[in-house]
Amino acid sequence: MPESAERGTKVGVINCGSSSIKYEVFDRKKGIKLVSGLVERIGGAEGLMKQSVLQADGTFSEQVYTKRLANHRQAFVFIAKIHREKRIIQEDAELFCIGHRVVHGGELFREPAVIDDEVMDAIRGLIPLAPLHNPPNLLGIEAARMRFPGIPQVAVFDTAFHQTLPPAAYRYAVPAELYDEHQIRRYGFHGTSHFHVAREAALHLGRPLEELNMITLHLGNGASVAAIREGVCVDTSMGLTPLEGLIMGTRCGDLDPAIPFHLIRQLSLSVDRVEEILNKESGLKGICGFNDMREVQQRAEHGDERARLAFDMFCYRVKKYIGAYTAVLGRLDAVVFTGGIGENSEGVRSAVCTDLRQLGITLDERRNSSVTGKSAEIQEAGAPVRVLVVRTNEELEIALQAEAILEKSVRRGDAPCPCLAQT
Ligand code: AMP
Repeated sequence: MPESAERGTKVGVINCGSSSIKYEVFDRKKGIKLVSGLVERIGGAEGLMKQSVLQADGTFSEQVYTKRLANHRQAFVFIAKIHREKRIIQEDAELFCIGHRVVHGGELFREPAVIDDEVMDAIRGLIPLAPLHNPPNLLGIEAARMRFPGIPQVAVFDTAFHQTLPPAAYRYAVPAELYDEHQIRRYGFHGTSHFHVAREAALHLGRPLEELNMITLHLGNGASVAAIREGVCVDTSMGLTPLEGLIMGTRCGDLDPAIPFHLIRQLSLSVDRVEEILNKESGLKGICGFNDMREVQQRAEHGDERARLAFDMFCYRVKKYIGAYTAVLGRLDAVVFTGGIGENSEGVRSAVCTDLRQLGITLDERRNSSVTGKSAEIQEAGAPVRVLVVRTNEELEIALQAEAILEKSVRRGDAPCPCLAQT
């Protein structure tokens, strides 16, 4: 897309997996997305790059490329080359910064961090807490730093928003040394999404976030709940890892912690196999064979008993958390639905909110069924608790937070690593 080559008007957002790079480019002045894309099969026989690019008429055009890409560095070189050819980013200097999604920030990161070697070491040090996620995140940062050496890079952590939890909410009732020496505690994830929709909900309600008590429900293939008191997160359903809490597409969520021992002893399963079962073969998929909520709902409507049970169990667990977090918050102003299921499934929203009148939560089913994609209120007229459906946008939130922390650190004239919490 033809764009003026004005310096620093664009913000890149990167979410790196072990063989993939998901990316977006935003125009920071206009607040719009210019490109979103995915490079897959990095390290495989043939890499695949698919992107959708904003056109002058406001529509997006799809582009597909193939090329062997030995590693993430080559993938970034390839993305930059295509973006130059397509006049999306002609000069590196058009980038204001690049924001990276980093899954685990442990107790070190309470806010995004401008990346330098010290921050890299700190993220590396957190690998034991997120062995599946932090290594590919680091790969992406390293490769991006090599390809874009002059562009500031910022890490935005999934855990950061939950670092305000009080100890009573984040500690597990296990020997204290396990926390003191091994950092075994609740961290929570999806923080970028919970914060984004909480702020959007406050904007929609025309009230400061700092005045509102909310429960945000991020219901997607991964799912979690957050209790937010006056803008500050005070509890969340995911724990040391994203396995705890709600029932998800393929993850079990809350479970008697003795079940893994039972499986290991009685069924002679290995630890790795139990981990695989609980992460990849449980949740909706484990109950009825399908992890996609659309399919679960369709099958349930056509009389599939297992699909009905999966749907009921999913909604029941969400409802249980709403009850618990209402008790935690004392006063509840709003419940916010987001994520692929929360935004799109009127059936889930309806089932979750059934029989919650005692808590002040009642839906207007006509409003519930006419949500269009914009932020919408779906509670009954006059109900004490506002119920909202808000579209999440984690990539935009990463871009905004990266930009904001960079501007803040430049204003303060900080040392390169202003964001590491004092320990
Ligand atoms: P996410 O991980 O946020 O992309 O959400 C993915 C989940 O959203 C999948 O379980 C989808 O089945 C679900 N989803 C998307 N659209 C709908 C819909 N119209 N009705 C029910 N579930 C939906």
